[in-house]
Amino acid sequence: MTQPLRIAAIPGDGIGGEVIAAGVDVLQALAELEPGLELRFEHFPWGSDYYLAHGRMMDADGLARLRAFDAILFGSAGDPRVPDHVSLWGLRLAICQGLDQYANVRPTRLLPGIEGPLRGVTAAELDWVIVRENSEGEYAGAGGRVHQGFGHEVGIDVSIMTREGVARILRFAFELARSRPKRQLTVVTKSNAQRHAMVMWDAIHDEVKADYPDVASDRMLVDAMTTRMVLKPASLDVIVASNLHADILSDLAAALSGSLGIAPTANLNPERRFPSMFEPIHGSAFDIMGKGIANPIGTFWSAVMMLEHLGQAGPAGRLMRAIETVTERGEVLTPDLGGEATTAAVTQAVIGALAGANS
Ligand code: NAD
Ligand code: MN
Repeated sequence: MTQPLRIAAIPGDGIGGEVIAAGVDVLQALAELEPGLELRFEHFPWGSDYYLAHGRMMDADGLARLRAFDAILFGSAGDPRVPDHVSLWGLRLAICQGLDQYANVRPTRLLPGIEGPLRGVTAAELDWVIVRENSEGEYAGAGGRVHQGFGHEVGIDVSIMTREGVARILRFAFELARSRPKRQLTVVTKSNAQRHAMVMWDAIHDEVKADYPDVASDRMLVDAMTTRMVLKPASLDVIVASNLHADILSDLAAALSGSLGIAPTANLNPERRFPSMFEPIHGSAFDIMGKGIANPIGTFWSAVMMLEHLGQAGPAGRLMRAIETVTERGEVLTPDLGGEATTAAVTQAVIGALAGANS
């Protein structure tokens, strides 16, 4: 008898509900095919509807309840009726920071059959993992507004970078780079203009680097990094950056890989003291919500990352191959990838392909 893995599903807002329902369907179909995989889902109705009814995005004891799970599958937080900073801080950031999910991992590659916007760039040339510092930095939440509403109002957001926070994300990125064939890491900062914390990043990079002589690491300024991603994609492998910088770079990366709708992410607590959270990188997509055409592949790929994290490499590989079978055939794709298929049709196509994919 295998122990069931307990998954907390938090669909959240907008298309979050549509893609998480699809993700749960695919994972359940996978579990039926895999004798060693048993998944038990519990759904949490948290999000903006919950906020409008209860005045908070999640239950007061929400974090304590989530701790009992093996992993969290998350949709999106964001709704036109609730200010974005309220929905984001009340749910997604509350979970990431409360469960110390300090490593945000965002793989980017061109899936088979998908043509990205970069002319002539092949799948072998665009294969990156962006590591985002996910616990502090520009999104630490420190700051305030003084004299609100008056002409002399002041708004301050303070970026907090700690030696421990920077060192642990750099070590995580070096370890990840070491596990990949290219063994290459690019550390992104803006240490010419931001002359305190970003210079500290560079200094800590120099220290940590000494422990990884087998990994080639280099430094880039974030503005120059955008041009390198577009013009020389093959020169990159693992990329590490601060919370804000990596947030922006990873949306660019997602677009370069074909669509924001296919990009996955993992919010990891690498020491496994707390559950980690897996989610597509896209948001609530107000423009397409309720239309049934949201691309579920970003959620499926996030589910692959979740299974890998939970030690289920076999089923994870099987699901990834099923996704790639569907993209390679190119017959059942949502409009963001140039197709005409619905979320449900892509979900059924991936479930169909699972049978043909071995674990
Ligand atoms: P978005 O990702 O929701 O949408 C950007 C564009 O990409 C839209 O045109 C949308 O239709 C398209 N898109 C996104 N996901 C798609 C999918 N799966 N299939 C097809 N097309 C897809 O970003 P936004 O418009 O900046 O934000 C909308 C809301 O989502 C805001 O409230 C924002 O705060 C929130 N948001 C939440 C998260 C999160 O919870 N992790 C992330 C980003 C944005
Ligand atoms: Mn983002």
